[in-house]
Amino acid sequence: MLDHILDQITDQTHDHLSVLTEFAVRSEPFANEMFRAWNEIYRATQAPPTAFEEAFRAFFSALKQANLREAYTAFGTWGIEAARARVEYDTALQLVRDSQRALLPFVLRAYDDAPHLPLLLDALSAAFDALVTVTSAAYLTVAPERWVDRVATHTVGQLTGGAAHALNNLLAAILGRTQLLLAQTSDAGMREELEAIQNTAAVGARMVRRLQDYLQSAETTNTIADVNALLRDAAELTRFMWRDQAEARGVVIDVVKDFADVPPAQITASALRQVFVALILNAVEALPNGGLITLRTERKGDRVIITIVDNGVGMSDETRAQLGKASFTTKGAPHLGMGWHIVTKTLQQFQGTWSVESKVGRGTTVTLTLPIAKTAGRGIKPPMTTTRAANILVIDNEPSVLSLGAIAQIARA
Ligand code: ADP
Ligand code: MG
Repeated sequence: MLDHILDQITDQTHDHLSVLTEFAVRSEPFANEMFRAWNEIYRATQAPPTAFEEAFRAFFSALKQANLREAYTAFGTWGIEAARARVEYDTALQLVRDSQRALLPFVLRAYDDAPHLPLLLDALSAAFDALVTVTSAAYLTVAPERWVDRVATHTVGQLTGGAAHALNNLLAAILGRTQLLLAQTSDAGMREELEAIQNTAAVGARMVRRLQDYLQSAETTNTIADVNALLRDAAELTRFMWRDQAEARGVVIDVVKDFADVPPAQITASALRQVFVALILNAVEALPNGGLITLRTERKGDRVIITIVDNGVGMSDETRAQLGKASFTTKGAPHLGMGWHIVTKTLQQFQGTWSVESKVGRGTTVTLTLPIAKTAGRGIKPPMTTTRAANILVIDNEPSVLSLGAIAQIARA
């Protein structure tokens, strides 16, 4: 599996190769400093010693020789070591992401010629996304039963996390350039304009941060889920696959929502969203020539019924009998055969049920049922009906936050 993923991410990031190679060469003079910074990050986690610095050294030396695959392989090797040493999966990913962040000052140092910087930030962002993928794959290789839930949850977060990430890079580029210009001018009018840009970018960065925090705080305690909203969410999260990728293949996939006004279900929102994403992706993958996906909700007695219908390739009875078994897939790599495994485990945990009707060549109907939340109605806030004036005192040590726009935002919230 690791080999296949290494091939795939090498392919996916190939366009960035020359920029990455150039950076590896340019950063030579302060490479040791960079490696030391990464090692610090690793030490701060107090994870057992694994060759994190070595991985980065091998990564950069392969990049210098324009060998992307070898660069990623070095990280795969580290990932396997970390998983064997029982470094938590979340810690491993955090390490990769923190390392990416720690790179920024070095990047700004190496690239004071403006036109290159956005290209490089893009390339590094793609390369670090690839490192996250290869790390996840390494963890699955070492002990799938131990890590699969975390990896799957993380993958869903990635779908939106990717967007936050790209935004962060853009904002970092704006901030970096603005700060360089600020250092070069003493013209008061110019400085004022530049500071305004800087402050706006800083506010943007904070908003992205909040989005990322939200994505990370998988709601584990609240077990009341708005089924229609989550189904809509899942359709949005997967839009890239059923709209953009389908269009790129020249086929049309329609997603139709047929929602009844159902009460909340007794399940955590993040778990249910994950189930919906897995099932919608299966439906999309069952429609290589396009077709129709219907998402339906209704109430029957004390249960919410969710139906996901596709008119795709369908499956045989033998296949249907194996649904839910870990690693069962008829699709081959890179598919992991984990979708239904997660679906069954989640439904078991929350007293849900599932059934599948399918005919080869005709399509598939997946029906889920979930108990209605016991406290249904209690968790829902009454609409605000009164307005009253109030004074708001805003204290922040970040001057850019104390702009009128930001205060208006806080007030609205
Ligand atoms: P994966 O999608 O990675 O193969 P899943 O657990 O999601 O793993 O699905 C297991 C198998 O069930 C698939 O490989 C496929 O053969 C079959 N399957 C699941 N959903 C559908 C569907 N909507 N239409 C046809 N076959 C499906
Ligand atoms: Mg699947």
